[in-house]
Amino acid sequence: MSLIPLDAREGFIWFNGEMIPWQDAKLHVLTHGLHYGSSVFEGTRAYNRKIFKLTEHTERLAQSAKLLGFDLPFSGDAINKASKAVIEKNNISDGYLRHVAWRGSEMMGISAQKNTIHIAIATWEWPAYFGAASKMAGLKLALSDWVRPAPNMAPIASKAAGLYMICTLAKHKAEAEGFNDALMLDYRGYIAEATGANIFFLMDDGKLHTPLADCFLNGITRQTVIGLAKKLGVEVVERHIKPEEMGKAKEAFLTGTAAEVMPIAQIGDFHLTPDKMCKTLIKAYDAEVLGNFSGKSNAA
Ligand code: PMP
Repeated sequence: MSLIPLDAREGFIWFNGEMIPWQDAKLHVLTHGLHYGSSVFEGTRAYNRKIFKLTEHTERLAQSAKLLGFDLPFSGDAINKASKAVIEKNNISDGYLRHVAWRGSEMMGISAQKNTIHIAIATWEWPAYFGAASKMAGLKLALSDWVRPAPNMAPIASKAAGLYMICTLAKHKAEAEGFNDALMLDYRGYIAEATGANIFFLMDDGKLHTPLADCFLNGITRQTVIGLAKKLGVEVVERHIKPEEMGKAKEAFLTGTAAEVMPIAQIGDFHLTPDKMCKTLIKAYDAEVLGNFSGKSNAA
């Protein structure tokens, strides 16, 4: 990816209903969203010019906003159209879309009842590395001290900016210690998710086990992969998983819009070898995003 800072790039950003030059997409320093975290966002991918699961992402954006107490100023249809238009306008083939909605600057204080809601959509190239062998090396995850909060501590089902505060802290610490990412437990001590992706384990019973999404984002990729696994005849168990159960895992992988299906080679001191299940699901997901998933396993 280009090293040009995100605010210095060329192109067009859809901003409150208009397509404007990239570098004009600015907001004031006294914006509620910046001071109080009243902001929600989406990360979506386009493959071969088509946006994957666009409706699911725009619906989640509206739902995220609702959970923070505001409505988006555009309908789901309008946002879908704008998302397609921004891909066209920037001539993106394989790319990433970032939707963001936030409370504006009319009032500065905890209360922001009168603040207008703003929304923007940006996109940039993000090449798809289909079947990349390098993925099979697997990620190294640190175990974080930060835990996912309980449903009465934060709007846990919202993709709200504020929920990422502990993710950045966890990820920075992990990176400083030579890991790629961090695995977080939840407020009860069960395995929750990585800082921007969900987690699955292939256990010694031959089934895929994944944490119950009752205090973190039920990822769109997570739901897609559960569907693919079932079509491939792999049983998926959603349940509370204790960290000590990792010892029974044969394989593990992360799922997310950015991560796609990403094998894991290490979690703390525990080592894993990505193998057939990771390969099978990477292949299945690569096919699914292009609309080519046949339902048959063609793993090595
Ligand atoms: N959890 C967190 C905290 C995330 O940021 C993401 C990425 N949006 C996910 C899980 C995976 O969600 P999705 O598959 O919808 O991208």
